[in-house]
Amino acid sequence: MEKIKTLRGFKDIFGEEIEKFKDIEYAARKYLILLGYREIELPILEKTELFVRSIGDTTDIVEKEMFTFTDLGGDSLTLRPEATAGMVRHYLQEGLYAKERLAKLFSVGPMFRHERPQKGRFREFHQIDVEVFGVEEALADAELISMIFLMLCDLGVKNYAIEVNSVGCRQCRGPFRDVLVEYFKKENDRLCEDCVRRLERNPLRIFDCKNTQCIDVAARSPLLYDHLCDNCRNHFDDFLRYMKEYGIAVTINKRLVRGLDYYTGTVFEVTSEDLGAQKAFIAGGRYNNLVEEMGGPATPGIGFAIGMERLAMLADMRSISGQLICFFAYVGEKAKNYLIPILKAFTAKGMTIRYSYEDKSLRAQMRYADNVNADYVFILGDEEINKGIIILRNMKNKTQHELPLDLKSILEEFKKYI
Ligand SMILES: [Zn+2]
Ligand SMILES: [Zn+2]
Repeated sequence: MEKIKTLRGFKDIFGEEIEKFKDIEYAARKYLILLGYREIELPILEKTELFVRSIGDTTDIVEKEMFTFTDLGGDSLTLRPEATAGMVRHYLQEGLYAKERLAKLFSVGPMFRHERPQKGRFREFHQIDVEVFGVEEALADAELISMIFLMLCDLGVKNYAIEVNSVGCRQCRGPFRDVLVEYFKKENDRLCEDCVRRLERNPLRIFDCKNTQCIDVAARSPLLYDHLCDNCRNHFDDFLRYMKEYGIAVTINKRLVRGLDYYTGTVFEVTSEDLGAQKAFIAGGRYNNLVEEMGGPATPGIGFAIGMERLAMLADMRSISGQLICFFAYVGEKAKNYLIPILKAFTAKGMTIRYSYEDKSLRAQMRYADNVNADYVFILGDEEINKGIIILRNMKNKTQHELPLDLKSILEEFKKYI
């Protein structure tokens, strides 16, 4: 019979990658909790309409990339392609705007997009999503960047840039749209079919086009950054000033636009050349109209998502679980009587311990100890029991020591040799 495998673009996460995932989550939670963010878990499946309304129906995600299906009850459902929409739904459904207005939330879990699988890109991928609702001030924008900076320090990520831009508000976008449409109309015959259509519906999407001619036309277009209204200009200047106070370097990238419709004001991406062409591994921005557009009261918001698969490729592993691995090798009935007491003593003290479940020769057990990368092996047989000792073998430098066979002090004695 043919063996069943994972779906295309889906994969199991195990070994070193899951160790890194746990370390990334650990580093993120540490700073999120210090700064008062609360964790929340949202459903993976939501009504399709939630994403169409929040992400925008002319975006690539909604047009081409969602896992959407009709369920047995006839409803259109979608596996979440990103987390912000669900966060906004939660904020409105729980009436958080009435209770506290300010809500600082984060969530960890899988997202789904039906993209063409490529290096470091999967159809199921994992994000840590962070959102702040109810704060207009640029202090919130700066706080998010400062947390990202601290997390990346903890994870040993060095070669990266924090790219920032402002994509403006309704006030500055209206007039700028006219400037842009005028420019693209002049270049109309050089744009691809998709972009000619985008020009009518949503000219900003032209910047996402992968067509080389369109990229070239877009690269020479006027920039919103140079046409910001006073409010947006002041907000962005405040943000840059706060980043200076934090002592964190950011790079202004006037061409940075995010592939979602809901962004307003500050947007940012953390990028690394080590990732190749698709170099962003953290991305986010402000969405001051989204809550209102989703049927709530006018509420500013800002957030970001960490792509865990991509960050895992950059994280330098001094694994948090990087403890010494101990192995207990026992030979004979009498020695086996020590097995469970030793397991209890080691785990109670938070020490790792490995052992063989079956009675095996000492040679076979030593081979097994090698396979699990044991740093130290405790060896016990009849001869050692008669002498009242246990042998401690250092697997790295091959030295051996005799420790007294006394469960109460064995770990104390062991520490003298690490
Ligand atoms: Zn503005
Ligand atoms: Zn195009």
